[in-house]
Amino acid sequence: MHTTNLYNILDASQALRRDVLLACKIIVQQQLDSGPFGNISIRIPGTQTFWVNPAGLTFEQLDIHDIVCADIDGNLLDGKHTPHPGTFIHREIYRLRSDVDAIVHTHSENTVMMSLLGCTIDPITQLGAAIYNDQGVYHGFTGPVRTSNEGTAIAQALAQKSLVIAKNHGIFTTGTTIQTALWDMIIVDIAAKIHLTAKQLGLSPTEKLPDEDMQKSRIEVRQKQCEFMWHAYLQKMTTGK
Ligand SMILES: [Zn+2]
Repeated sequence: MHTTNLYNILDASQALRRDVLLACKIIVQQQLDSGPFGNISIRIPGTQTFWVNPAGLTFEQLDIHDIVCADIDGNLLDGKHTPHPGTFIHREIYRLRSDVDAIVHTHSENTVMMSLLGCTIDPITQLGAAIYNDQGVYHGFTGPVRTSNEGTAIAQALAQKSLVIAKNHGIFTTGTTIQTALWDMIIVDIAAKIHLTAKQLGLSPTEKLPDEDMQKSRIEVRQKQCEFMWHAYLQKMTTGK
């Protein structure tokens, strides 16, 4: 391989490492972080390896050299820390879904509360409509996931959807890019809060929107905004606005 190509590949890989860090910092900025519990990873395209945050550090504490590279069999390939235990789940999602290149998980209050219900988020607003019919639900909670078997079960509950609600645990969002998976997590957190509040107020679900209107929300709210919002969050990080 020509040296220049090799450098390009290494540079691209390091850019993904940086993007894991940036996604973690955006989760902190949005106040969706959860001490030691969140995990965010990005697959190196076309491989069975990914960059992920490590065990034992909060998102707030991380810097670029703390992000580690692991493979789907659990081997550490680059970095000085142990990969976050959440990789038991990420590894199996990457194994089953070759189209998934990024995964975001955090124990934000709204997503954990939503997970207690063991059901999908109602399409009662634009945000709920944007993720309608794109949510799997996993019911086999046995405490913190420390085996590949439960990781596989959660990946199977995700199936071909973009996100999975793990009952009594929280929500995992996936995407073809970190921007889509991260934006989905931010949307899902708000949609979960709306769903929970509507239930508390005793509101009955509004009439289900026609599929074509749901599809409109998916395009306008999710697909068209994720890149823009990624840059907006980064701008706020550097300029404060
Ligand atoms: Zn978790």
